[in-house]
Amino acid sequence: MFTLTDLSKIKHSFSSLHLNIAKNICFWKSMTEKIETETKKARYEYLEDLPGIGPATAQKLKELGFHTVESLAMATVHELEPAGISEKKALAIINAARSSIGIAFIRADELHKMRQNVLRLTTGSKALDGLLGGGLETQTITEFYGEYGSGKSQICHQLCVNVQLPPERGGLNGAALYIDTENTFRTERIVQMAKHLNLDPEKIVKNIIYAEAYTSDHQMFLLENADEVIKENNVKLIIIDSLTAHFRSEYIGREMLASRQQKINKHMHKLIRLARAFNAVAVVTNQVMAKPDMFFGDAISPIGGHIVGHTSHTRVYVRKTAHGPIRIARLVSSPYLPEGEEIFKITENGIEDVSEDEKTKSSGR
Ligand code: ADP
Ligand code: MG
Repeated sequence: MFTLTDLSKIKHSFSSLHLNIAKNICFWKSMTEKIETETKKARYEYLEDLPGIGPATAQKLKELGFHTVESLAMATVHELEPAGISEKKALAIINAARSSIGIAFIRADELHKMRQNVLRLTTGSKALDGLLGGGLETQTITEFYGEYGSGKSQICHQLCVNVQLPPERGGLNGAALYIDTENTFRTERIVQMAKHLNLDPEKIVKNIIYAEAYTSDHQMFLLENADEVIKENNVKLIIIDSLTAHFRSEYIGREMLASRQQKINKHMHKLIRLARAFNAVAVVTNQVMAKPDMFFGDAISPIGGHIVGHTSHTRVYVRKTAHGPIRIARLVSSPYLPEGEEIFKITENGIEDVSEDEKTKSSGR
């Protein structure tokens, strides 16, 4: 039995308990808000701005190829180890970089919105664009593979010009970065293509940042150090032409295949991370011999085939026809598009559609 006084005591302690719970809720709410606003506030522009990075660490990170907050956000703890950073500190740095550029767990509807940030770049041919679902996508890698002379480098040249077009003309209002491993990049071709599109060739050439890679290591080094150049120049297209030539000539024999594959994988992962961080289109070329279909799925085929199985990307097989400038492009693999084939042509003007008239004439391809 309770007395009235007991009852009032119990009531009192209940209400103070309530009060405490309410106070606690208020406290946690304000703490969460504080953390949230601080996280939102944390926008770091330079490496040195990130908590825990002094000038010496920043220098070491730059030597490892991390020049921007964006590239750190995409790094792994393991990759920062050579800078003499502990695992715990590396994780803190990466997380700060991620929160700064807004990468975290997201809901699928937000992922859907992110996909809407994917931009498209025209190839110059409506047919080829159509095959690719409206042009080359940003944030993924598109691989053009085919025989010598099939037109892989010509496509790359055309993309360097097109990327500078405004979006209403199928461009991305951006610059291009061209890593050339076979010394086949020609400004003369760029000038021809730019003139055809009524663009000022001088300006167009200035917006193509070019580097010749002399070895596979040099090629990897160039890409690993490209983030700053990409950011400063608003690069929206990164080209590696050819992705595989150096690797193929340097890593000879079956016993070297595993290490070759490992290096190419690393290289491709760097490329995809740059494409994602800067919402850029990434293009690689890969020379193969006739009938590459025979080698599909054979990752260790010495003449190419599947170079990188894991990296999500679009693969286009380009081949010549008996009809001079006309080429056939086949979409072989895409994360979401059906396979298909289209024709286009390579002329002095660049990559163009084949007219109905020419189609009839070449129908016996
Ligand atoms: P790869 O696939 O080996 O990179 P390329 O992209 O270099 O091949 O394609 C070379 C082909 O592009 C040439 O054989 C020719 O058919 C075409 N081509 C190159 N320059 C011109 C041009 N100025 N006018 C017309 N066609 C050209
Ligand atoms: Mg080429």
